[in-house]
Amino acid sequence: MDAQATTKPAVLILLGPPGAGKGTQARMLEQRFGLIQLSTGDLLRAAVAAGTPAGLAAKAVMEAGGLVSDEIVLAILKDRMAQPDVKAGVILDGFPRTAGQAAALDGLLAEAGQGVTAAISLEVDDAAMIARVAGRFTCADCGEGYHDEFKLPVEAGTCDKCGGTAFKRRADDTAETARARLEAYHAQTAPLIAHYRGLGVLETVDAMDSIAAVASELGSIVTRVSA
Ligand code: AMP
Repeated sequence: MDAQATTKPAVLILLGPPGAGKGTQARMLEQRFGLIQLSTGDLLRAAVAAGTPAGLAAKAVMEAGGLVSDEIVLAILKDRMAQPDVKAGVILDGFPRTAGQAAALDGLLAEAGQGVTAAISLEVDDAAMIARVAGRFTCADCGEGYHDEFKLPVEAGTCDKCGGTAFKRRADDTAETARARLEAYHAQTAPLIAHYRGLGVLETVDAMDSIAAVASELGSIVTRVSA
């Protein structure tokens, strides 16, 4: 696996609005480079499903497409970062999303004598994002992503990857909530692009291209920054 030759574990950030392909690409990078995908959205959905206090507090905000408080997100992220598997290196998917989260991450990494290896901004067209988000669904067993319009399973009703027959849709993947999430991205997350440009770790990728083309470009970036 390409990244295992690195001296320090990579800390990669995927920035981009909902529908840009962060989750899909993070999963592919995870498999290719042996990194750990760390999605605060997945962690929060798990907390909601488990009915933890953090999950109960986050549920309504997530359903409305807003941002969960930095306090809750940081507590969940720190817990996850403390687990031993992240020593392989991480791909942060959906974190940081605010200036406060970015500053907290910088501080957390500085304590370990580290910094962000690369923050990769997936550049996309807003209008197309609503359509991408509104039609997506995943295999309930393995998490493989699909889309009503752009990527249906080859055999209807059966997951291409694991053969599973149950699929699920996120409660917040509606056109209306996607619009709110896009607004939250522009208001609070897009300014982080300048933060990472200032740190000299910003990379940009045209994410309107095919999943395979974006994966190939990301792979080249990860290989280069991990060297
Ligand atoms: P995602 O799976 O990344 O699209 O996140 C789904 C929802 O979880 C978002 O719309 C937010 O409500 C919440 N969320 C995920 N990550 C964060 C974060 N880093 N900060 C605040 N809210 C978050």
